[in-house]
Amino acid sequence: MKQLTEKTFFYHTKCPRWVRRDLVHGNGLDALEERMIDDGLLPEVMEGLLKARGEFETVRDEDMDDAFSRTVDFMRQGVSTIYSGVLMDGHWIGRPDILERVEGKSEFGNYYYVSVDIKRISDPRGIRDEHRMQGSFYADLLEVIQKVKPTSGYIMTPSGIVMSYNLAVFEADYRLTLDRIEKILAGEEPGHILTSGCKASPFFEVCLDEAVACDELSVLNRIHRGEIDELNREGIKTVLGLASANLEVLETKIIDISFNRLSFLQRQAIALKERLHDIVEPIKFRDEAVELFFDIEADPVRDIDYLFGVLKVQYNEDGTVTEKYHAFVAEREEDEQTAWNEFTAFLNENQHAPVYHYGWYEISVCAKLIDRFGAPEGAIESWRNNFIDLNSVLRPAVIFPLSFYSLKDIAQYIGFQWRSEDAGGVNSIRWFHEWLDKGNAPMMKKIIQYNEDDVRATRVLKDWLKEKAGKK
Ligand code: SF4
Repeated sequence: MKQLTEKTFFYHTKCPRWVRRDLVHGNGLDALEERMIDDGLLPEVMEGLLKARGEFETVRDEDMDDAFSRTVDFMRQGVSTIYSGVLMDGHWIGRPDILERVEGKSEFGNYYYVSVDIKRISDPRGIRDEHRMQGSFYADLLEVIQKVKPTSGYIMTPSGIVMSYNLAVFEADYRLTLDRIEKILAGEEPGHILTSGCKASPFFEVCLDEAVACDELSVLNRIHRGEIDELNREGIKTVLGLASANLEVLETKIIDISFNRLSFLQRQAIALKERLHDIVEPIKFRDEAVELFFDIEADPVRDIDYLFGVLKVQYNEDGTVTEKYHAFVAEREEDEQTAWNEFTAFLNENQHAPVYHYGWYEISVCAKLIDRFGAPEGAIESWRNNFIDLNSVLRPAVIFPLSFYSLKDIAQYIGFQWRSEDAGGVNSIRWFHEWLDKGNAPMMKKIIQYNEDDVRATRVLKDWLKEKAGKK
């Protein structure tokens, strides 16, 4: 049955084909993945947040029609906060986390309802288009039901802070997306391009195979749609075509891509064709007696960071190297601060060491936890000055013959293997839930081993970069 829900906007952003698949086969996600995909939290965590704020009513009916009737009953009664209500109109079904009563006029009396979603973000900069589209969608549904349309959408952070956004500002984008989604639901084949976001899509493997088989330009790492369109217009439609193009001639025809960028894209195309990496510029590494390699494991749907893993590598004066892996673990949710304190005390003791990590996540989580729990001065200095994101370091310096530059993609290319075959971000969250729910000790062991492999992969990558691209 054709259905458009608030989650459809997330599927559409990740992968337009997903909208159709959802229609025919269901979304193919388990409960955890469902929560992950739209930045939500576990129901028990959300209810805990609401309990701390005061009284509320919950819509628990599993049947959607019953849930809708109950929601409207609660609205008619003027309940101040409704959790997990259902809004319906034809094939549109919206389930905002919270409906909050505010003053004004509506079908129901001298009040109306606005929607609030609980998302895993910490400040207004984290509010994304998909979140606003969900809010706009609820506002449309609320207008039908209560005969007045809210002008603002709201998002609550896991720490209970409520932020608003203006729906009118976003109206045009929302209508455009809604129109595209309705067309896909009606049978139109969506246009698409391979990006790292595709990895979350059930179509990823199929699309990657198709793109590689057709030698599409979209297999080039981080090429933009506009760049592909521009190159296509000049007859460059394949990776081979770009690899063998005359750059000087091409530059005279293409005005919206700089020569440097064209040259970089061509080097990417050549690297892919030759299956060889290409050193673009040297990288300067600090020489220190101690180096740290760092990675965090988090449970986003509970909003906790439960494992701070560090590999300490010491270069001794006699030429030997010693290394030790340290796991600072919160084995229960309430131990997050203790694990953080232990980790930051360790960082404080090693405050002059460079701290290598991969991607922005470690920096932003440390910023959040310094804010929330504090840290010794030396640890804060280390976070400010010594954290080195290898992903940012390598991007301008080395071209890999790969479509994606995740740690796993690159480390495997240079020969590193994870011990566990099912190692991965979502699986580590599943293992953590098994540990919390059933005290399953092998699961905790697997998580720690996975984290250790991540920091060891980061070290192998750093050493590889130093050997291949390091400069004195
Ligand atoms: S390329 Fe494939 S996975 Fe990526 S958005 Fe398009 S349909 Fe989805």
